[in-house]
Amino acid sequence: MSRKFLNLILIIALSLTVALGQQPSSSTPSVDRIRQVITYLASDALEGRRTGTPGANDTAHYIAGEFNRVGLRPGMQVLRPARTRGENLSRYLQPFPYVAGVELGKNNLFFVNPGRADDMAQFMIGEDWMPLGFSTNSSIDGASAVFVGYGITDSTLKYDDYASEDAKGKVAVAFEGTPDGDSPHGQFARFEEVRFKAVAAREHGAKALLLIGREVNFKEDRLARLRYDNSGDAGLPVVVISRQAAVRLFGKHDLGELDNFQRTIGQMALAKVSPSASSSEIHLEFVAFTITVTLSVDVARRESPSFNVVGILPGSDPKLKEEAIVIGAHYDHLGRGGEGSLAPREGEIHHGADDNASGVAGLLELARMFSSQNPKPRRTIVFIAFSGEEEGLIGSNYYVNHPIVPLANTVAMINMDMIGRMKERNLIVGGVGTAQEWRSMIDADNSMQSMTVSLNTTRAEASASKTYPIVVGSNGQPVVTMDPRKPFALTLNEDGYGPSDHSSFYAKQVPVLFFWTGTHEDYHKPSDTADKINYEGEVRVVSFVANVIRDIDKSDKRPTYTVAKSESSGRTMGFRVYLGTIPNYADSNDGLKLDGVRDDSPASKAGLKAGDKIVKMAGREVKNVYDYTYALGEMKAGQEYEVEIVRGGERLTLKITPAARK
Ligand SMILES: [Zn+2]
Repeated sequence: MSRKFLNLILIIALSLTVALGQQPSSSTPSVDRIRQVITYLASDALEGRRTGTPGANDTAHYIAGEFNRVGLRPGMQVLRPARTRGENLSRYLQPFPYVAGVELGKNNLFFVNPGRADDMAQFMIGEDWMPLGFSTNSSIDGASAVFVGYGITDSTLKYDDYASEDAKGKVAVAFEGTPDGDSPHGQFARFEEVRFKAVAAREHGAKALLLIGREVNFKEDRLARLRYDNSGDAGLPVVVISRQAAVRLFGKHDLGELDNFQRTIGQMALAKVSPSASSSEIHLEFVAFTITVTLSVDVARRESPSFNVVGILPGSDPKLKEEAIVIGAHYDHLGRGGEGSLAPREGEIHHGADDNASGVAGLLELARMFSSQNPKPRRTIVFIAFSGEEEGLIGSNYYVNHPIVPLANTVAMINMDMIGRMKERNLIVGGVGTAQEWRSMIDADNSMQSMTVSLNTTRAEASASKTYPIVVGSNGQPVVTMDPRKPFALTLNEDGYGPSDHSSFYAKQVPVLFFWTGTHEDYHKPSDTADKINYEGEVRVVSFVANVIRDIDKSDKRPTYTVAKSESSGRTMGFRVYLGTIPNYADSNDGLKLDGVRDDSPASKAGLKAGDKIVKMAGREVKNVYDYTYALGEMKAGQEYEVEIVRGGERLTLKITPAARK
């Protein structure tokens, strides 16, 4: 231990002795309570808390009850007093629109005229075909079909399944998956996402896209299960057909023949993109494909009540109470799997103990600690349990567009997501570049953790527990001891954007801090259970977060917002180009709204701004984030492209030059 460090600690310790000595016990987090909350939230009873499900809504009511119990005010203020407890609790709930499910409507029809005979074949829904949840509802009457291999278009690979056939006005037929056996590291990996195939089909003027399923048992095909990702409509009907139906469609004899056909198509595709191939020597020789398709798709998207839970602790300072600190944690998780799950199959409850029952337990502890603290925090504290996080930050996005305390008065947002799996002493703090004060505040609070103030420790106890006495009282007994094992091994990340709810706030120029204990092998799997939580570790995180919040509140001056250095997000899908846009992943159907634009990025140089809606980019229509990503994948660094936007009702065309991604 360096002498210099000890001196520094001594100074800090002396300045804090009094404050620490006065802390009442109710202002520290409790292992038992945290365990109780996580055990309940991660229990089978709440069925994995998927947004829009009864399990999630039961969780919301439970959190509302806890907010109420510790004396927080409901976030949704109305003039009339509540008449019942239920009515009172419902005022903690901030509803937001969310499509929880899709159902088949009444008008789903699929007829095929193979053209070989004059018999019209009907495909039965559920047996032979299914529409996809993001499919457009519409009807096609006797359009001819065109086979397009795997339905992939990728200009960087110089690969186009649509090259030899004109798909305009026709129904495109393609295999599900990718030619390289769906390897996540394969060249075609991004077309694993069926959304991109839909965009490619639409871009080529196809009237509909028919995908040939990959499972022999159609009901096991992932596309045959109707679901919706809350990312907008595809802009054309998209359906999956069974392999048996495909056999009939192509006039093959049996499944074996279809398998061989698919293998050949795949090999040709791979040969085309292999470095040794000269693209002219290989042509896809298509079977005569003379069928016509009559199709009607009818999918009903079912909106389901979904809620953020908001509780307010009014500030105690007559002036500073106008300012707010938001403390957040998302309570939704993945239900029984599906979208977002990393489990090999669907159906099991994803308990989400670390993700993010742990954060909610921290939130409830902080609510209890701060509301029982005397004096109360000077600034208003807004406690928010978000929903819709796993589906793309839908709840927090809704909140920042419908804030309860104006965002201009929101001085900081503190997010806890996955704080229950501390290993060693590792804690990751994101967003430290979003306010000038963050780094030094976090560092000072971390060093303070090594200190214990006690009037009763004996010198023998202090040395037995490997702590160092650093302040000794007049009786010769240690008053302040320091334990060098106690501070966290911090990993500080500058960026205010990241895969959780703080992103939504940073996009609105609110300084943010994001606490998490890192990922693990149970991440997004059913095995993320309550018994694996490091409860002592979590208590330490929550108490650290509490100290940081007290520090923010202690200063009369609000944290100074700064633009953080961006770090690669890990969600880049291997793109070679970079624009620096911050897309809004929620509610876009007629364009991609931008939440922000990174400073000094190609996007900011092009003149793009937060609030702009991109409707066309590099000659491609953009209706939602998938269209946007698709267009991005087609762009080259250093080349100038047009980007069409809608800003305040006006349509503008800007020029953008993507940079190479480092
Ligand atoms: Zn998650």
